[in-house]
Amino acid sequence: MATARTDYGENEHSILYAETSGCCPLCSKSILFRKPGSSRLNKGYEVAHIYPLNPTPSQVTALIGRAAPQAINALENVIALCPSCHTKYDKDFKLDEMDKLRKIKDGFLVEARANATVADYKIQEEVYEPPRILRRLQLLRGWSHEEVSEVFARGTRARRAHGVRAPR
Ligand SMILES: [Zn+2]
Repeated sequence: MATARTDYGENEHSILYAETSGCCPLCSKSILFRKPGSSRLNKGYEVAHIYPLNPTPSQVTALIGRAAPQAINALENVIALCPSCHTKYDKDFKLDEMDKLRKIKDGFLVEARANATVADYKIQEEVYEPPRILRRLQLLRGWSHEEVSEVFARGTRARRAHGVRAPR
C-alpha cells in the first residue's frame, strides 16, 4: 500500500523555505517568482522527499541496500526544490543525487541546530544585560572602573560607597 503524503503546515513550510535561503538547493534558482502582470511574489517550490516516498520499481532496484528512514514524511527527509529539479529528481532518480541531496539537507540541519544554540546563548546573555551595559558605558564614556562603580553605587549603597571611595 502506498504511503500517504503529508500535508505540511505553515510552520513546516516556513522552515523548509527558510533553510534554502530562497534558492533551489540544486540549481540555485530563486524559488520566489512573480506571475506575469502580478505584483505579488509567490513561493515556487515543491516539497521533495529525499528518500522516495513510494519508490517506483526502478527506484526500488536503485535503493537496494539503502535503509528507508523511520519517518519518511519527517522534515528531516524532505527538502524544498524548484519544480523542475523536483521532477527531474523523481523521474530520473539516481542514488548519487539522493546522496547529494542528503548531504545538502544535513548541512541545513546542522545550521539550524547551530542557530538554535546561538539563540539560546543570546537569551542567556540578555539575563546578564546590566553588566554589559556597564561595560558599554565604560567604553563609551572612557570612565575608569571606579567612577562607574561609584555612579551605580549611588542608588543602592550610597552611604557606604561614599566612605570607600577609591583613591585616584
Ligand atoms: Zn532547481
